[in-house]
Amino acid sequence: MHPAFSRDELENSYDSLLEQISEDISRFEVKSKRDSLLFKVLPYITFYNKEISTRYITTLYPYVYVPSIPWNPDLPLSRLAIMAHEYVHLLDRKKLGPIFNFLYLSPQILSLLAINATFFSNWFLLFLLFLLPIPSPGRAWLEYRGYRMTLAVWFWTTGRMPDVDFVLKHFSGSGYYWMWPFEGMLRKRFERDMARIRLGIIPEELLKVKRILDKEYGKLNT
Ligand SMILES: [Zn+2]
Repeated sequence: MHPAFSRDELENSYDSLLEQISEDISRFEVKSKRDSLLFKVLPYITFYNKEISTRYITTLYPYVYVPSIPWNPDLPLSRLAIMAHEYVHLLDRKKLGPIFNFLYLSPQILSLLAINATFFSNWFLLFLLFLLPIPSPGRAWLEYRGYRMTLAVWFWTTGRMPDVDFVLKHFSGSGYYWMWPFEGMLRKRFERDMARIRLGIIPEELLKVKRILDKEYGKLNT
């Protein structure tokens, strides 16, 4: 455990993390949403999340889109924690391939089957019901893995236990299309994970980031 990172240690850790991601994910790049046509159009479609292009970070493998570049120059800790979170998505997407996208977009993606109504029967229009904010276990699982990293990075760099409730709001709110409203169950899971991480029992995908932080911490003071 590290008591608290200095600003320079956070900046150096962020640079090392970008290097690590480039090593693991070929063609990885941080891009600006401002320069992307997709993110100009998307806010018109994502009525449930109008801030998708101005506040959110979105990973579209192998790129991580940020609202603008330079991205949060004065907030190195939040930048580091978010990029570590996106790193988990990139690794999962690399491992799972298109299954990642299906899990992430289900069940809402099944609404596309309604197009069959044009060729076969109007009964296919029932697939439009999948557009409703039905909980998405797939998206919730992938985001749980991402937010476990976010929490761990906050803990390792500040020495303080982060606020789990802040993370839970993302699961039950509109930002991710109401993916998981069952907060109690998720809170227990995060609390159990953080207790383990505190004891040094660290999930595999978090270890590479932990090593970067271990290497960086205290280097400037010696
Ligand atoms: Zn995420």
